[in-house]
Amino acid sequence: MVCGVKPERPVMFDTRRPAGVGERVGLSPLVARVLAPNAGAMTFSGTVTYLVGHRQLAIIDPGPDDPAHVDALLRAVGNARVSHILVTHTHLDHTGAVAALVSATGAKVIGCAPHAGFNQPVLGGWHPPDSHIDHLYRPDEIMADGGRLETAEWSFEAVSTPGHTRNHMCFALAQEQALFSGDHVMGWATTTVSPPEGDMAAYRASLAGLLQRPERLYYPAHGHPVSEPVAYVEALLAHRQQRQEQVEECAMHQATIEGIVDTLYPSLEPLLRRAAMVTVLAHLLNVPQDDHEVHARAVQLIRDWVESV
Ligand SMILES: [Zn+2]
Repeated sequence: MVCGVKPERPVMFDTRRPAGVGERVGLSPLVARVLAPNAGAMTFSGTVTYLVGHRQLAIIDPGPDDPAHVDALLRAVGNARVSHILVTHTHLDHTGAVAALVSATGAKVIGCAPHAGFNQPVLGGWHPPDSHIDHLYRPDEIMADGGRLETAEWSFEAVSTPGHTRNHMCFALAQEQALFSGDHVMGWATTTVSPPEGDMAAYRASLAGLLQRPERLYYPAHGHPVSEPVAYVEALLAHRQQRQEQVEECAMHQATIEGIVDTLYPSLEPLLRRAAMVTVLAHLLNVPQDDHEVHARAVQLIRDWVESV
């Protein structure tokens, strides 16, 4: 065993891949989905755009800037009226199609705040390539935590869930006691927490916050719905706690962040290795300041790494 790495507590991921790119698939009396054609290592089988309602629709996370996906959404809308476009966070695989959908439907854009820039002093201005961040997103209305959007057919409550991004927001659908969980909780994998936009402490607090809520079905923006979200979120929290302990243990024995990654994530393909790097970085930034020795070591590892990249 290297630097005290304990066996993983298993998280039961649902790696079945949704199929039917571009097709309208009904999931419940109120909710349908259209799968976008942007499958990939970070997007799984592609972004899932949700349509909620019958005559009056809300569209949640329009998806990537791809004319074929916008056409598929408009076919799925048919003769209904799209009154609102809801956005969970400002990653382009969720917001790229907003502008085209607004111009086709005249819908109002509502949801998370715009991207707010980067502000993590210990990183000295470093941040990962942000080509996936939508810097142009400007909603008609920013929802606050607990804010409501109600129509005759459906009503949503905004649930602020920072962590994956600082502006991440989920939407609770009262009629189904269901939660549109965006990239915060997905069944196929744990989410990416990429500093300085991602924040591990905020992510864990946002997960814990969901356990206090009544929703018993989650509709994530990638993969299938999560049907037992309480047990799943508890498993995610336990997994993150274990990773935190592993990273702190390794930080005291390894000379570099790369060394920690090699120990905790052996034999990763290059793209996932970058995700592992930023996840370890997020855990190092999450070491509590009152844990003086480990905190000082974490800051040193981060500074050395920032200077080397
Ligand atoms: Zn995202």
